[in-house]
Amino acid sequence: MINYDLYLPSMLDLLKRLVETESPSHDTSAVNNVGAIIGEEVKSMGGKIEIIHNETSGNHIIARFDPPLSPGKATHEKGFLLLSHMDTVFPVGTLTHMPFNEKDGRILGPGVSDMKAGAVIGLTALIALLENKKMPLVPITALFTSDEEAGSHTSRKWIEKLAKDAQLVLVLEPGMPDGSIKTWRKGVGDFHIVVHGQAAHSGGNHENGRNAIEELSHHVLAIQGLTDYSRGTTLNVGVIQGGIVVNVVPEKAWMDVDLRVMQPGEAERIMEAIYNLKPVLQGTSLEISGNLNRPPMPYGELMQSTFEHAREIAAEDGITLTAAGTGGASDGNFVAPLGIPVLDGLGAIGGDYHSEKEYIIKDSLVSRTRLLATLLQNW
Ligand SMILES: [Zn+2]
Repeated sequence: MINYDLYLPSMLDLLKRLVETESPSHDTSAVNNVGAIIGEEVKSMGGKIEIIHNETSGNHIIARFDPPLSPGKATHEKGFLLLSHMDTVFPVGTLTHMPFNEKDGRILGPGVSDMKAGAVIGLTALIALLENKKMPLVPITALFTSDEEAGSHTSRKWIEKLAKDAQLVLVLEPGMPDGSIKTWRKGVGDFHIVVHGQAAHSGGNHENGRNAIEELSHHVLAIQGLTDYSRGTTLNVGVIQGGIVVNVVPEKAWMDVDLRVMQPGEAERIMEAIYNLKPVLQGTSLEISGNLNRPPMPYGELMQSTFEHAREIAAEDGITLTAAGTGGASDGNFVAPLGIPVLDGLGAIGGDYHSEKEYIIKDSLVSRTRLLATLLQNW
């Protein structure tokens, strides 16, 4: 039996170093500083590092661990892929009012839960398996990306490529506050809609103006109206802007729209409706852009059987594993449509992500390391 408690001090030390190395998406050098720490760690474990250079949001890091030599037993089985991201939503300087700290069994700090603790758990599970000679007889690859919080635009192809070589993908995003892992996630899209009207003096020649805000308002209501809770589809006009001063008929107005979908076909239905919006006021025009960024990760047959297998393995080790889901997306959303088994939310148990109160439950560092190592060992 592996004594996972022994790893807590080194986990806390690595977590503190990672959290105190602030790493907002798009701050290339900041994210690369996190990559350097992870790279050193992987090398000290005997893993191989491949750096995917990336100018726009920091490098991605691929860590590879070969299976232990097993004479006479050639295995051609696919291995495991661990997914973590190094970027956070917090700008550099957040630490000054939100320092890494421990209080009432919780650890707080920018990105502690989403998802620096996940990287620590992933690495520590491998350290424990290596030190105790319990590594599975298949390759293990860990991908640390730099742009998840910004849409994974440069990492997506690496996620998909590495996932195709895996029999199981384990996403180290935080678990639910009750410890459940994430077995479904909604797909996410965003749209930007610009209305062009005609400027005019609001008193002198109101009738010659074409009010872009008035035109936009029709489409705000139309888009909000596409929401269908019964299918898990939501639309949120999150930002609107328009006009310059009160006595000018506004020439321009725009909105940003967030889309979440759960069921197949819903993204297509919404896209069609949005791209078919037509101007209501004569003399105005619409400029529409946007797309589904992440497809949904539904709780389908494959997910059910993957979760059931994980639940049984965990139960044999005395761990109760429960399933839940969320409207928030992750890189697991890119894996699910490939038909590759994926489990998400295996990182630390925590909550209040992306807020000043973001935390993890300290005890979950050890319990999740044990869970992950147990899954890898017995899958
Ligand atoms: Zn995350």
